[in-house]
Amino acid sequence: MRYLVISDIHANLTAFLAVLREAGKPGVEYDLIWCLGDVVGYGPDPNECVELLNALPHFSLAGNHDWVVIGKADGKAFHAAARHSAKWTHQVLNNKHRAYLASLPVTQIQGDFTLAHASPRDPVWEYILSPAIASQNFGVFQTPYCLVGHTHVPIHYRQTKNSASSQAVQPVYSVPLSLAGGRQILNPGSVGQPRDKDTRAAYAILDDERQTWEFRRVPYDIESVQRRMRNAGLPEILIIRLEQGW
Ligand code: ZN
Repeated sequence: MRYLVISDIHANLTAFLAVLREAGKPGVEYDLIWCLGDVVGYGPDPNECVELLNALPHFSLAGNHDWVVIGKADGKAFHAAARHSAKWTHQVLNNKHRAYLASLPVTQIQGDFTLAHASPRDPVWEYILSPAIASQNFGVFQTPYCLVGHTHVPIHYRQTKNSASSQAVQPVYSVPLSLAGGRQILNPGSVGQPRDKDTRAAYAILDDERQTWEFRRVPYDIESVQRRMRNAGLPEILIIRLEQGW
C-alpha cells in the first residue's frame, strides 16, 4: 500500500489542497491518508479541513490542538496567540466536526508502524526535537518504525546499531528513501504551519511494499490564507509566521 502521510494541517485549507493536488488521486497515487493529528488550531478553515479529510480515504489521530479546541485538554501550556486561536476555533467548529475530533485516538499501531501525534512516550505533548529525546522514545514502541508530527519540522531519526543512541537525518526531498537497515522515527513535517524556515507545505509518501519513504514540499498561496486569518481576527503573530516558516 501507498500512504499519503500528513500532519499538522492546522486549519490551513489552501496548504491542504496544494498537498492533495500534488500527491495525486487517491486510489491511484496512494491508497490511504495517514494524518498524525492537529487538523485544526491556528488557521482560518477548521470546518473545511475536517470536511475535506472526511471526504478522503483516511485514518487520523488527534493532536494537542484538536484536544484543546474540543475541551479534552486544557490550553494552559499554550502561548496567548495559540489560546486565542483555540478559542476562536472552538466557537466556529460545528458539532459534527467536534464529535469527529473527539472520536480520534492519539496513538495507533498499523502493521510495522506506530503512529503518534507527538511521541510514543507522550502521544499528545512531547516534542521529539533531538536525537537524545528520540533515543529515549525508541525504547517505548515495539514496531520497526514510528511516525510522529507535532514539531512541524520534517526529519527522521535512525537508531544506531547497538540501539544505544540515535542519529538525526535531514530530509532530502522528492527522493524515495529506503527504510531498510534499522529502526526509525519519521516526521513528515507540517502541512499548514511549517517551522523549518521553509514556508512550503510538507508531507510524505510511504510505500510499505517497497519499504520507501519520500519527503516532499509544495508551495501554496500563503497570502490568501493570511487574508482569511485577518478577516477572522486571528492574532497577527500567527499570520506573519506563515510567510516566515516558523
Ligand atoms: Zn501542531
